[in-house]
Amino acid sequence: MGAYATAKELGREAVLEKIKSAGLMTYGLRREDFCEALKQAEEAAPVDAGLNNADTDGALLELLRENPGRIFEGIRIAGMLTGTEALSLYLPEKETALAEELGGTAETYGIEIINDIIDVRKSERHFLLHIVTAAELSDILEGTSEEGVYIKAEDKPLEKVRSDTKVSSLISLEGARAVSMGYHFFTPEEAADKTAADAVNAVIKVIREDQCIVRETLDKLSAFRRASCGKCVFCREGLIQLEYMQKEITAARGKAEYPGLTQEIGEAMGISTLCSVGQESAKAALDATAKFAGEYEAHIKKNKCPAGVCTSFSHIYVDPQACTGCGDCMDVCPADCIEGRPKYIHMIDEFDCTKCGKCIEACEEDAIVKTSGKLPKLPNILTKAGRFRKH
Ligand code: SF4
Ligand code: SF4
Ligand code: SF4
Repeated sequence: MGAYATAKELGREAVLEKIKSAGLMTYGLRREDFCEALKQAEEAAPVDAGLNNADTDGALLELLRENPGRIFEGIRIAGMLTGTEALSLYLPEKETALAEELGGTAETYGIEIINDIIDVRKSERHFLLHIVTAAELSDILEGTSEEGVYIKAEDKPLEKVRSDTKVSSLISLEGARAVSMGYHFFTPEEAADKTAADAVNAVIKVIREDQCIVRETLDKLSAFRRASCGKCVFCREGLIQLEYMQKEITAARGKAEYPGLTQEIGEAMGISTLCSVGQESAKAALDATAKFAGEYEAHIKKNKCPAGVCTSFSHIYVDPQACTGCGDCMDVCPADCIEGRPKYIHMIDEFDCTKCGKCIEACEEDAIVKTSGKLPKLPNILTKAGRFRKH
């Protein structure tokens, strides 16, 4: 017998008793007693299931892919508890293939699949159900429920671990610059003290020494901007401004006021927006500018990307003493920005160079150098190989 059939046979009160004794908490950003949350819901409130709107990683969708019936049964149980047949499952906009794949099965459960974020204003009177809570409801009725939270640590598969599992036992902090967990960035020292329960979207990623914290912040903000529905001014405009400033900083055009402005806008977004996209999206930027201020300072004031990732701070040049004029670099350059003739020292036009590094790989003389320091004296006209003098 499925979990929903068991629930129907037991009846609403007995099901609530079971849930209460299992101590079910709602999953996601607002962790509260499930039965209390249910009491606050209006009678016959439609059930809107999904991830947090802010969950742009979507790691928890793996639960749905693995066992859709478990989630669908849980949604039906929630519907039985609120007293409604109006059941919806919201999937991120880009997950149209998943929606199509599950559409037929969902229909047999009376569940409508919608590819969109949950419109919190429209759903004010709806009962919001995280898909993990739906899975837990199913498990409780099946008698297979276990304490724990789902974690996707680095490239490992999604797994359920005890909530008090130390993050340091899930990932290696060696060579870590920062740790991205939930919607936050932590220093490695902070992360070592955190537990699995702190990763509300399941994802734990280590930002290593060769990764740039400003670039990582930019990537997160770009994902949030794409997810934003644009109805709240602070979410829409705030994300555009935050993304713009991080982009300028990584492109060596950062201004001294950008970290402060990032803080101001980020704090305002947290209190002036309707759903988790606006409320959570600035957290990484707030953390990055506050906890990794030195990295921002290096980009803005010292013209340097400490991780060597932001190519605008690096130069690529041909070492005039080492170049033999073979022309191999010219042949592979996709930007067509290397000038030269056979047996002449080749020259890179940095204006068009994308710093792809293909010429470095092609040069057998190791004559092409990438540096974040100053450029040495270089020829400014085509010069025969071996004839260039530094002075
Ligand atoms: S916070 Fe952003 S995504 Fe959420 S309702 Fe407002 S504009 Fe839309
Ligand atoms: S830089 Fe290297 S690949 Fe290019 S012409 Fe000189 S020796 Fe050849
Ligand atoms: S780094 Fe790429 S774009 Fe720049 S000169 Fe070399 S091959 Fe061309």
